[in-house]
Amino acid sequence: MSNAFSSTQLSPALLENLTSLGYDKMTEIQAQSLPLMLQGKDVIAQAKTGSGKTAAFGLALLHNLNVKRFRVQALVLCPTRELADQVAVEIRKLARAIHNIKVLTLCGGAPMGPQIGSLEHGAHIIVGTPGRVEEHIRKNRLSLAELNTLVLDEADRMLDMGFEEPLERIVASCPTDRQNLLFSATYPQKIEQLVNHLMTAPVRVEVKSTHDHSAINQHFYEVDNNGARTDALERLLYQFQPTSAIIFCNTKAECQSLSDNLSQQGFDCSALHGDLEQKDRDRTLIRFANKSITILIATDVAARGIDVDDLDLVINYHIAHDPEVHLHRIGRTGRAGKSGAACSLISHKEAHKVIRLEEYLQQTISPEPLPNDSVFNNKIVQASMVTLQIDGGKKNKLRPGDILGGLTSNSAIKGDQIGKIKVQATAAFVAVDKAIAKQALKTISEGKMKGRTFRVRKITR
Ligand code: AMP
Repeated sequence: MSNAFSSTQLSPALLENLTSLGYDKMTEIQAQSLPLMLQGKDVIAQAKTGSGKTAAFGLALLHNLNVKRFRVQALVLCPTRELADQVAVEIRKLARAIHNIKVLTLCGGAPMGPQIGSLEHGAHIIVGTPGRVEEHIRKNRLSLAELNTLVLDEADRMLDMGFEEPLERIVASCPTDRQNLLFSATYPQKIEQLVNHLMTAPVRVEVKSTHDHSAINQHFYEVDNNGARTDALERLLYQFQPTSAIIFCNTKAECQSLSDNLSQQGFDCSALHGDLEQKDRDRTLIRFANKSITILIATDVAARGIDVDDLDLVINYHIAHDPEVHLHRIGRTGRAGKSGAACSLISHKEAHKVIRLEEYLQQTISPEPLPNDSVFNNKIVQASMVTLQIDGGKKNKLRPGDILGGLTSNSAIKGDQIGKIKVQATAAFVAVDKAIAKQALKTISEGKMKGRTFRVRKITR
């Protein structure tokens, strides 16, 4: 099997663009799935985030596309808006080689009006979440009559999130003659049922973990009850002193109460789960990525799409139901050759999960003693940055460079005291060193960017 993109039937324009993106050779999942997909086969690919799966199906759907026909020809369904946004970004990058390709995202949690307007203008490729896409179809705003490629990304998660019904209805409105591509990190039975009536003679490809789990130090601790669990969690946070950690919980309520509890104690943390409004989730993700929060307390579903790969600690407040989910969780640490730690709290009620994990990992799990009381003498590591929200964004033609320029204009603030800048449609977020937060607020509110003043505030929660 050759792993050069040029060994495939991709057009010269797409190939040239891949070179300009620095994609020198196919990743393993691409090498296995792309040739099949380009032959028009239905493909089931078991691959995780980070494997290059988005480019795999992105290239396949672009290959199928006729840009001159301004109709929806490809639909990518994703479980969350965060993932849909990432997929759309990747497809747009890959599509740079083809002029005038229109990629539209249609996700729940985003205002309806602009989506309706965009649909009236038309698109070649839709990336969205099932509920919202189905709603647009039902209200006759979106026709899939000319669809040729249907992609289900993270299909396991979509089923976990209860998207089965909208998925069925979307599939029913697609032409029967189409190519189906299904990507999933795990392959539970539910997927098999979906596959049976969705796909035609699918070929299945699988890539074993792309991540060397041996770089992760796994620790297990026994806890008897919920009180002991919270106490254990605190000890571990004092012990490991993470600057970037995720704590996984099984329920939304647990995420929220842990986050409230840890914030009260002075940890820079925030909860991330599906009961929060989309804009709050977006803000939390921005603050975690830009180092204004050190600890994120999340459910598995919400943690999908978190684009932070230098975590120093993952804590499983409850061990995951499924060994694959466990590996997926802990695989977020110890990336790119760095070492990471993963701590799992286990009670005797969870013994069956531990046994399954032992079988899966082919290793014995021996719980360790928790750190003793002296650990509480350690300091709580505070976030190094804070996030300022500016009430202006792309609609005001504000770009990251304007914000950087605005902040450094009177030379009281240096470039290296400014962190990540994220500009959205009507708001922008800039991380600044905590020590200069006041100065930064003053500089922005009193200064001008793009010839006008903007309101700015510090985000505290
Ligand atoms: P994904 O698994 O789709 O989330 O992709 C992980 C990352 O790998 C993305 O940032 C892609 O831009 C990048 N990527 C995908 N394919 C390749 C490739 N063949 N060579 C280098 N980078 C790639």
